[in-house]
Amino acid sequence: MKVTPFILALIIFFQLQSQEKQTNIIFMIGDGTGLSQITAGMYANGNKTNLEQFSVIGLIKTHSSDNLVTDSAASGTSMASGVKTKNGVIGFDLNGTEVSSILEDCEKMGYNSGLIATSSIVHATPASFYANVSSRRLYEEIALQFVESEIDYFIGGGREHFNKRTDNRNLITENNSFKFVDNLSEFESSQNERVGYFTSDLEPKSILEGREPKLANGIQSMLAKLDTKEKSFFLMVEGAQIDWGGHANIENYLLSEFKDFDEAIGIAIQYTKANPNTLLIVTADHETGGTALNSGDIKTFTPQLNFTTKNHTASMVPIFAMGKGAENFAGIYDNTLIYNKLKSILAQ
Ligand code: MG
Ligand code: ZN
Repeated sequence: MKVTPFILALIIFFQLQSQEKQTNIIFMIGDGTGLSQITAGMYANGNKTNLEQFSVIGLIKTHSSDNLVTDSAASGTSMASGVKTKNGVIGFDLNGTEVSSILEDCEKMGYNSGLIATSSIVHATPASFYANVSSRRLYEEIALQFVESEIDYFIGGGREHFNKRTDNRNLITENNSFKFVDNLSEFESSQNERVGYFTSDLEPKSILEGREPKLANGIQSMLAKLDTKEKSFFLMVEGAQIDWGGHANIENYLLSEFKDFDEAIGIAIQYTKANPNTLLIVTADHETGGTALNSGDIKTFTPQLNFTTKNHTASMVPIFAMGKGAENFAGIYDNTLIYNKLKSILAQ
């Protein structure tokens, strides 16, 4: 082919276009995942974790506005929207004003968005990215706000909050924008603009009970889908049940859920390294269980976890960052600043 000035101009135009593509954000939250969870998970996995591949690390203050010990609603709201709020509240600041989340801000900029959770999709952590409710328990209202949101793709539990409701509405059959699918291959192959995969009727099983799909397979399918689109994307991925293992004070539950989350981190790292226009952050909303490693077996790297509570604690939690703008995430700072840092990266 002869390269005419016109074709040359076209090539330059498309190169500039691709350079201008805005930053993809992968925001991973290990619910209830403090340093002891990470340490025990690492030892239990033969003394290694994918988190060792990060070079930018920080520590996050997690308190809510009314308690040193936060819950997932208040902490989720702080990370997603940059404001402190009371425990149990999602998407409102202290004046009762609705706040916009980083996912919604990205949507306004023309991004695609996705959510993956190993809980129901209306649970506090994912809900913090799209809902505004006075109580995290208002699952039916959260489901309504979910279908009215701009979210393009999701993988998570909680089908019955959409189709077995006290108002007798069926948000699945009355919704004509989402295509609902039953497995990951349908999720990937669907050409619909919005695709959702309900993995369970209420809360998904634990890994110990045989939960499918694995979080790593879910994020793989989600990234494959988002990668084929012209638009940049925002993706939130939650390992929800690390927290539930902590509440239950059951070491095997916690460790198996951490492993599932760690494998998903491995997939996100591969994507981020192959796509330098991507920012990957991994953090937690709070620590759960007041866990400590008081003993263990050095020969087999078997940790022995002890718990001091069945609730959350106020310990700082680590944050790990990689890719575009990662350097902004080093240091010790408040969870609300995660939102501010993401906003300033998007503004560049
Ligand atoms: Mg959660
Ligand atoms: Zn919890």
